[in-house]
Amino acid sequence: MADVDIDIEESPFQASPVTPATFDEDHVIKFRCHKGIECFNACCKSIDIMLTPYDIVRLKNRLGMSSSEFLRQYTFPFEFDKNSIAGVKLEPVEGTTQCQFMTEEGCSVYEDRPTACRYYPVGLLSLRRADENFDRASYALVEEDHCKGHLEDREISIKDYRKEQGLEEYDENGRAWRRLVLKMKSSGPAIGKPSLQSRQLFFMASYDLDRFREFVRSEGFQNTFKLEPDELETLYQDDLALMKFADRFIRQVMFGEETIERHPDAFEKHVRRREEARKLREQAGDDSE
Ligand code: SF4
Ligand code: SF4
Repeated sequence: MADVDIDIEESPFQASPVTPATFDEDHVIKFRCHKGIECFNACCKSIDIMLTPYDIVRLKNRLGMSSSEFLRQYTFPFEFDKNSIAGVKLEPVEGTTQCQFMTEEGCSVYEDRPTACRYYPVGLLSLRRADENFDRASYALVEEDHCKGHLEDREISIKDYRKEQGLEEYDENGRAWRRLVLKMKSSGPAIGKPSLQSRQLFFMASYDLDRFREFVRSEGFQNTFKLEPDELETLYQDDLALMKFADRFIRQVMFGEETIERHPDAFEKHVRRREEARKLREQAGDDSE
């Protein structure tokens, strides 16, 4: 294990007691959670839940709101590390640590609950070897005193637990973003702190998808990038397609991984427009004298 760096921050349970052992998905745990259990809802009364972009898509669509409205009402931003890469977490009910989606009957957004809620009490960890630039899935167990699910008489492998909790779809749709965050975190010391503009673009393209869609619609974007009309139409309609495109866009802007074609004369046009705008400003200044 000497060449393996366990990035515990990738766990959705940063503040929780994670047992100091990692497992693969064949590992069997003893756990069951159900409505009749004495601790029902206890975990939702004290939350620390990081959201993935896919979590946000599912929740904002369930609630019939835009990503901007959802972010404002249900989340708060935090920084992953000193390089100021922003993440978002669920904002508890004001003045408490309780989830806004918790009701007496349980989770009010159960079918669309976030990845971290589905995983609990399993922690998804990220293992990175010194000579590799990608993550390997590994798991840990979170054992908290208030959670009586560990005392239930049911054994299940982590693989089957992930299936039961619908996590294959969530992990599939969250993988590209996790890798992107890992890349940003691991290359941070090499490239330094990203500029404010890069960080703002990262935030918008990762979490505020409806705003990113408006950006893609904008004249400035379309004067710079060359997309076919049917590709643009898909991005206007389909959140998942836009989410995947956002990943390519961030990688292009932040790491120079060029996968989105640019108009050949985009830079010259941009310079020309700036020059014209400067002249107009100067003229306006002359006229007002
Ligand atoms: S989203 Fe649902 S499952 Fe997750 S903490 Fe809130 S109430 Fe609990
Ligand atoms: S068993 Fe654990 S996960 Fe289930 S309601 Fe109780 S505290 Fe929450």
